[in-house]
Amino acid sequence: MSKNSILERLAILADAAKYDASCASSGTAKRNSLGGKGIGSTEGMGICHAYAPDGRCISLLKILLTNHCIFDCHYCINRKSSNVRRARFTPQEVADLTISFYRRNYIEGLFLSSGIVKSADRTMEQLIESARILREDHDFRGYIHLKTIPEADAELVHRAGFYADRVSINVELPTDRGLTRLAPDKNARQIEGAMGRTRADILDARDARTRFKYAPRFAPAGQSTQMIVGADQASDADIVNRANRLYGKFGLRRVYYSAFSPIPDSSAVLPLKRPPLVREHRLYQSDWLIRFYGYRASEVVAATDSHGNLPLDMDPKLAWALKFRETFPLDVNRAPREMLYRVPGLGVTAVNRIVAARRHKSLRLEDVARLTVSIAKVRPFICAADWRPTRLIDRGDLRSLVAPRHEQMELFPA
Ligand code: SF4
Repeated sequence: MSKNSILERLAILADAAKYDASCASSGTAKRNSLGGKGIGSTEGMGICHAYAPDGRCISLLKILLTNHCIFDCHYCINRKSSNVRRARFTPQEVADLTISFYRRNYIEGLFLSSGIVKSADRTMEQLIESARILREDHDFRGYIHLKTIPEADAELVHRAGFYADRVSINVELPTDRGLTRLAPDKNARQIEGAMGRTRADILDARDARTRFKYAPRFAPAGQSTQMIVGADQASDADIVNRANRLYGKFGLRRVYYSAFSPIPDSSAVLPLKRPPLVREHRLYQSDWLIRFYGYRASEVVAATDSHGNLPLDMDPKLAWALKFRETFPLDVNRAPREMLYRVPGLGVTAVNRIVAARRHKSLRLEDVARLTVSIAKVRPFICAADWRPTRLIDRGDLRSLVAPRHEQMELFPA
């Protein structure tokens, strides 16, 4: 394999990395090369678009250092028993590739993950070395996201945070039971232990910077994780509760949900079909409700069905509203902002407009219609100066009136 050209290895290792969803570059510290110092910028435009299997756009050079692995996680195409072409980069090659892509304005940074070669420590050292070359030898100021290896020595994981903007430690599966079954070499306690230490390091570094201007940054874009959805029996309620616990306990910036993709020659313990992609989408919507709309995880869970799964034919906010109709209708002229967020069809922009407009006049239904995208979805859940939906909100067939009629197209049918 070592005889393969850089391009051949890039094809293998970029393809092997596409299953990882957790590489958004939001929220990092501002860095640039103004004044002719260094190279790269975390704010720049001119981005290469890589695509995950489900079509999401990723603007980083996203590769694995190697797809060799001594572990045998059932859901992973790179597991040791998988029959795939293997390749490996040296840290110098990763850095050179990143710089050459950056200079061509294809990317805004690097997302680097790896299979585990020789040992977790050895792999972690190589990941760190790639980032070190970029930062120290090239003075690279673009974005770096490093996937850390929780089984590696804590000191190594610690060092990674001084080079990376973001570090991520994948919990992989929503339940410990699922992890034990599908990733027998991994250990849930070890993963959470690494997350806990990273959180402490991030807080320490933030604290140091409030006191010393030049204290080193540690993972300024925080840490994230990824959960695979649909590879085991975990319900949406399990996933939402786990994500909520991770946000609370480790201060994660993001939890990414990745619908399980069947892989070639997959293990018999895995389902043959991937879950509908819309399930992943519903989980992102529920995540949004909790992080930005003030819902508690228990409220999102209350919107699930008897199996603990969110409905696929409507968004979780609508599902919650239909289940808890006693909360509605809400008066658009008087209801607090945080309650208006709960009205299906009203997003942050619409609520901002309503709150601003009602300072000047008492809003009628047609006023609300002008401030929202679609009044049809909103009408049953609000009161306005000239509108009360008394009979509408109690109708037995309300669900069929407000739920979307069309089915989402499957872009990549299984
Ligand atoms: S440790 Fe990572 S690369 Fe190796 S088999 Fe498990 S998920 Fe795949």
